Amino acid sequence: MKQSPKGKLRGDKNASAQVIIVGGGLAGLTNAIHLSQNGVPVVLIEKHEYPRHKVCGEYISNEVLPYLSYLGIDPLAAGAVDITRFELSTSGGKLLKAQLPLGGFGISRYLLDELLYKQALRRGVRVIQDTVSHIDYVESEDRFTVTCKSADQLDAHLVIGAYGKRSNLDVSLGRSFIKQKSPYLGVKCHYEGDFPSDLVALHNFAGGYCGVSKVENERINICYLTGYAAFKKYKSIEDFQHEVLYKNPCLKEILTNCRPLLESPLSISQVSFLPKPTVDNHVLMSGDSAGMIHPLCGNGMGMAIHSALLLSEAILQYVKGEMKDRKQLEVEYGKSWEKTFSKRLRAGRLFNSFFGRDRVLALGLKALSYAPAILPHIIKQTHGEPLEVVDQR
Ligand SMILES: Cc1cc2nc3c(=O)[nH]c(=O)nc-3n(C[C@H](O)[C@H](O)[C@H](O)COP(=O)(O)OP(=O)(O)OC[C@H]3O[C@@H](n4cnc5c(N)ncnc54)[C@H](O)[C@@H]3O)c2cc1C
Repeated sequence: MKQSPKGKLRGDKNASAQVIIVGGGLAGLTNAIHLSQNGVPVVLIEKHEYPRHKVCGEYISNEVLPYLSYLGIDPLAAGAVDITRFELSTSGGKLLKAQLPLGGFGISRYLLDELLYKQALRRGVRVIQDTVSHIDYVESEDRFTVTCKSADQLDAHLVIGAYGKRSNLDVSLGRSFIKQKSPYLGVKCHYEGDFPSDLVALHNFAGGYCGVSKVENERINICYLTGYAAFKKYKSIEDFQHEVLYKNPCLKEILTNCRPLLESPLSISQVSFLPKPTVDNHVLMSGDSAGMIHPLCGNGMGMAIHSALLLSEAILQYVKGEMKDRKQLEVEYGKSWEKTFSKRLRAGRLFNSFFGRDRVLALGLKALSYAPAILPHIIKQTHGEPLEVVDQR
């Protein structure tokens, strides 16, 4: 990865025309490629090296495929697996099956983020490996100063916050959701073993749910979300899986017949689904920084990529002078974000309230077993239509 020359960008005469993107996950990289391929100079700052594994179910809705193709990315050609079927079980192992309305694909974040990163470099994006510690809007000059851990400072006219679900920056920007503790914990590991390539399964267990699907190279991704309170009673992830996940016979069968491929499972805590503003201190938020849907809906990545599309299109209009000022850019982006995602987020919160409450879920599944054709309609509530892009060049 390219390192930043210390302090070089500050004072650069073109700096105020630049967009700085903070965070190079799906949303940040998507914004970077979209803007740079439409002629906007972009600097992206990411704290980690590529590639790396991330906690994620790694099932992604097909709605993003046309847009990824516009960005020059073909996940299926890179090895992603096509997924068409869905299975849901209660913690007692009662199963319900359905065809996915639009379908999706399985790809590891290790590979997907790497594909986007390499495409961003090809498009001329300047990528700096550093941790951003402060983003300050200088009102008198209508520009930002972005300060990194290395002490480098960069100036920009626009800043995109694409730093994910939770970051040191939420604290320094004084975002209110960060003051509330979140009770959720995510765990993920890759395995080898037998699992159908065309299936994504969502298996429940007391206090959480676990997604299982294949990614490239015949790997099986097993990823679960659980409440921290239930988890902390056990000494280790292995104990928790043995004592809690194994109570679901579907999960027991998968976990006992598969062999882990990572040295140890990855975990993250403090996963928050609280609403967040799409613009904070004039920073335009993209992906999970703008809002996160419950992972059980299997559409956080689709939303992150879609939000980057909405934001990129709004910025391109602004850059071309089709919006009169920064305020209009912020308001228009906020409106399009709400219009696109608020219904799905509400549906996600509603579905989440069923999970972990096994009696309610069992009743719901019993009702669905009489009318299984309803399940694809329920899935549709948390997904969108395929993303078509109007070329703005
Ligand atoms: C348990 C779990 C399972 C999930 N399963 C699925 C699924 O199956 N399907 C699906 O579609 N979605 C799923 N999601 C959601 C999905 O992972 C996210 O919605 C998606 O990763 C959001 O992408 P992003 O670019 O906004 O954030 P991220 O991918 O988190 O990227 C943010 C980036 O910002 C960087 N960063 C953070 N702070 C700084 C800083 N200060 N300076 C510089 N860089 C910084 C980070 O290193 C990171 O690379 C799941 C989420 C969880 C928690």
